[in-house]
Amino acid sequence: MRKKPDMYLEQDSWKIIENQFHKDRSRVSESLFSLSNEYMGIRGYFEEGYSGDTLPGLYLNGVYEEYFTENPGYKGISNRLCFMVNTVDWLYIRINIDGEQLDLAKVIFSDFKRELDFKTGELKREFIWTTSSEKKTHCLFRRLVDMKNPEYCFQSISFVPDNWSGDIEIITGIDWSLEHEAFKDNFWICKNVAEDQKLTGATLKTENTHIHLFAGYTYSVSDTVSAKQIIKDSFAASSFTLKVEEKKESKIEKLITIYFSKTASPEEVESGGFALLKKQKSINYNNAYKKNREYWAKILETTDIEIKGDPVNQQGIRFCIFQLQQTYTGKMPGANIGAKGLTGEAYNGNTFWDTETYCLPYYLFTNPDAAKSLLIYRYNTLNAARKRAIDLDYKGACYPVATIDGSESCTLWQHASLQFQSGTAVAYAIEHYVKITEDEEFLFTYGLEMLIEICRFLASRVQYSKRKKTYGYYGVMGPDEYHLMVNNNCYTNYLAKTTLDYTLKTFKSLNGTSGKRIKKLKKKLNLSNTEQDKWKSITQNMYIPYTKDSLIFEQHDGFFDLPHINIHDIPIDDFPLYHNWSYDRIYRTDMIKQPDVLMFIFLFNQSFSKAQKIANYEPLCIHESSLSPSVHSILALELEKHEEGLDFFRFATRIDLDNYNRNTREGLHMTAIAAAWMNIVYGYAGLRSDGPIISLNPVLPETWDSLSIQIKIKDSYLGITISAQTTEIKVKSGNPVTVLLRGVKTVIDNTGVIVSTKVAGKNKVSP
Ligand code: BGC
Repeated sequence: MRKKPDMYLEQDSWKIIENQFHKDRSRVSESLFSLSNEYMGIRGYFEEGYSGDTLPGLYLNGVYEEYFTENPGYKGISNRLCFMVNTVDWLYIRINIDGEQLDLAKVIFSDFKRELDFKTGELKREFIWTTSSEKKTHCLFRRLVDMKNPEYCFQSISFVPDNWSGDIEIITGIDWSLEHEAFKDNFWICKNVAEDQKLTGATLKTENTHIHLFAGYTYSVSDTVSAKQIIKDSFAASSFTLKVEEKKESKIEKLITIYFSKTASPEEVESGGFALLKKQKSINYNNAYKKNREYWAKILETTDIEIKGDPVNQQGIRFCIFQLQQTYTGKMPGANIGAKGLTGEAYNGNTFWDTETYCLPYYLFTNPDAAKSLLIYRYNTLNAARKRAIDLDYKGACYPVATIDGSESCTLWQHASLQFQSGTAVAYAIEHYVKITEDEEFLFTYGLEMLIEICRFLASRVQYSKRKKTYGYYGVMGPDEYHLMVNNNCYTNYLAKTTLDYTLKTFKSLNGTSGKRIKKLKKKLNLSNTEQDKWKSITQNMYIPYTKDSLIFEQHDGFFDLPHINIHDIPIDDFPLYHNWSYDRIYRTDMIKQPDVLMFIFLFNQSFSKAQKIANYEPLCIHESSLSPSVHSILALELEKHEEGLDFFRFATRIDLDNYNRNTREGLHMTAIAAAWMNIVYGYAGLRSDGPIISLNPVLPETWDSLSIQIKIKDSYLGITISAQTTEIKVKSGNPVTVLLRGVKTVIDNTGVIVSTKVAGKNKVSP
């Protein structure tokens, strides 16, 4: 099914550029022009104030509030929702000339340009403002978040009057009166506002979760008179008159420190914040800019993907890498990746199974330590998952569908009580991580304990059908959220089986070398032989709805009996369906939201034959989940449906740039952005990492001139360059790596291996 792109940005391979202000897309642009550095995130809103459609969103990773819905009166239904709370407008500025306030919804302006540079992480915006008194001023706004010192943010604003000299009235500071849009409320209590040698800082606290936050700033300015300080209930700012001269640049630079702690006292947070702000004074905007440029150059050395001959997808994939790298680096303890990263309030900033399923591969193959940190996050929230299992009347650990602090934060019982793919995703990710990194120690410190508790949950939730004489999961919802309370969802059964299998197999393989440690761990967790025998029996007798003759997996019992709907007849304006169709209307047909059968076929790719893949590649999916097109693309490419694969790839890489799902205004689909990375690496480099050894099967779309991809395998960086005639695979640094190259076991070292290029034909479907 094809969705239509809404393309309004300029083409550039290293930037996104908006050459004219699109008022009707202002929130979409705010999401696209977001900056973050894992610690803080800022939407690309206009800091001078904008009375049009805007969401000034400033978020901090892990800073959340909580909200209790009415107690449902049913056991096991979670009524506590955690949400990443909107924080403080630390870029706040108001600008006045002759009593006219700069507000792009109201004033006359021209030559608007906004751009975000992937090589520097700088967001720049400029335009010429013409006041009603005919004064023309070139205004330039620049901002960046420091990639190395995550608590620092920098803002620079300059004015060049074109036809006048005189005064600009400025107020700049921090404003903590912002409403959290979803709750139409503000959640900050001010503990103190203090000043110290031209530094101003407010110490705040979240109302219910008691997280302490320091927001402080200082500024420098070219030429001012009469600066004064304004401190109100929810606002601290400096007000001054900026003297400007015709054709000369006048500048304001603002340095901002944002510092929070979940454990420190307000006094400690205040003194810590001030100490950081004092240190920040030694860095000016240009230094910070240079340091960021160096940071990004280093990151790009090992992560950049170059597509020659396709500027649209080139921009798309670089945007994805840039956003991924902004959102998570694994340095900040307790951080994770929300479905929208730090770019909007949709999904409440919560983390889903997306992290392990769609995001982890990017980190695993570019920065394995970050992948490990993601798994440690799950280890650190194991107790909350244990509690969730008890709430649901089961054993072991039930990882939440949506979470910030580890507890279940999804208040839709249909999802929170019926979907179990978070736990199996954690198990899958542990296997994936350990296989690629060979970090066996991880299993002992973290992995096995999680696996045991996940298996316990799966074994206590599974049920035996006397008639079928098999085990299975009844009353569940698989990844396809359009079918709920179904029996024997194929994905759920399959993933439970593989999780139990992997855990038992791991015990067995480690028994020889680390028997004592395994014994000790089992003792600590009270894991008896009887319990393990039960797991074995479950996996051996797990029901997988599959017909040998047709090779088809049935998504769940009775799926093929469902009434059919022709998804191509759905008008484009009906999307997103969840906004435009009544809730129950969505659930009664064979239309699916996202891959379900195809999902486990993708995850366990090498366990399925090509014939099985062809038989199950389906046309029923509407891709309402942004996670969907990339998986379809990877399988389409494997099945040599190249044109379709490329279409889906573009949909995946530009899901937000072209607002395919018409909801980018709510924030970027960060986890889908990660899936787009998987798309190019699994789709075009042909990476498969589910078998005992990594396999590569590179292919070049016939419309591209070349493609260069890099991946890290343990400590080795592998470069894969697919040109029109030849494909070169080379270890750029590190030890030789053994891979299956087009099915042949091959050792790749720094001299490289060259094979002839496979160019993808159009529309060829292998039998
Ligand atoms: C998808 C889920 C996903 C969630 C967060 C939903 O629309 O169906 O699979 O976990 O979004 O991205």
